[in-house]
Amino acid sequence: MISAPMNPAPASNTPRASVARPPATAVLAIHGGAGTLLRSSMSAAMQAEYVNALQAVLLAGQARLAAGAAALDVVVEAVRQLEECPLFNAGKGAVYTAAATHEMDACVMEGSSLRAGAVAGLAATRNPVLAAQAMLRHSEHVMLIGAAADAFAAEHGLEQMPPHWFGTPQRLAQLEAAQAAQSGALLDHDGQSALATQGPIDEQTKFGTVGAVALDAAGHLAAATSTGGMTNKQPGRVGDSPLIGAGCYANDATVAISCTGTGEAFMRSCAAFDVSALMAYQGLPVQAAAERVVMQTLPSLGGSGGLIAVAANGDVSMPFNTEGMYRGYARVGELPVVAIYADEDGTAA
Ligand code: ASP
Repeated sequence: MISAPMNPAPASNTPRASVARPPATAVLAIHGGAGTLLRSSMSAAMQAEYVNALQAVLLAGQARLAAGAAALDVVVEAVRQLEECPLFNAGKGAVYTAAATHEMDACVMEGSSLRAGAVAGLAATRNPVLAAQAMLRHSEHVMLIGAAADAFAAEHGLEQMPPHWFGTPQRLAQLEAAQAAQSGALLDHDGQSALATQGPIDEQTKFGTVGAVALDAAGHLAAATSTGGMTNKQPGRVGDSPLIGAGCYANDATVAISCTGTGEAFMRSCAAFDVSALMAYQGLPVQAAAERVVMQTLPSLGGSGGLIAVAANGDVSMPFNTEGMYRGYARVGELPVVAIYADEDGTAA
């Protein structure tokens, strides 16, 4: 077992804010995946379920930020709560691989130190984001995979569950539909499924990864991302979610990012880091940087999905190039805002 810390502090050439900035209001943003919208399949009750789930996580995180909690702790707890909710594809409710197993990935990153922790291919750890946090805290490495990652989590006291605990009947039906449609190793994300949908976003075409980004009262940023990956994925496949700079990134000098979408395109474009780089090297505001990556770079690689971003100045950006993305944010002292569809500005809680 590795006991020595850990992801040493950054080298001096790390991009840093060079001037003191006025403190921005602490804020948490979260997502629960993006994808094809099927408004017709959504009942008011179903929409309320998703909105309530997102609002509960935002309200809890907002209270923690108001009490002075660190951004890293806030994003880890927000993602842990989303993992516990079977509506989303992470932890309980994770999708199935082509072999009808679960392989879960997660990543956390702290913007003040550039320390990070990640895990891929977990099969037993109840909360993958806690395993990623344990990597950040306790390992000399950044990422572990597979059985060794589950063993590391167990060694650090994290709860292990039997395989059947992660699945739901809906997830199994999605796998069966994907395999009946012979959609291959990954889903055809542009096609509509014959399977009755389970939520406002078509379960066959949505990306249900969860993520959180936050700016705390001390001006520090953090990001966390967790996923079951994609239904019917080839066993052993790892997407962008646990990869620093692809599906997750945080740097106090620029921005905290969590992504959701076709992982391969986010990996090839280093999507999360690209937003930060556009801000650091080209001086773009977060909205322009995030929109460029989501609306131009990713589509040019056939990538669909979106991301959530909180900049060092407290600005929030949540662009997506699909029809919907479960998303929301909460500033300390203000009502949380939640939205699902592209044509919504957000609903105050
Ligand atoms: N990006 C994730 C992956 O490729 C999927 C998702 O966002 O739902 O594994």
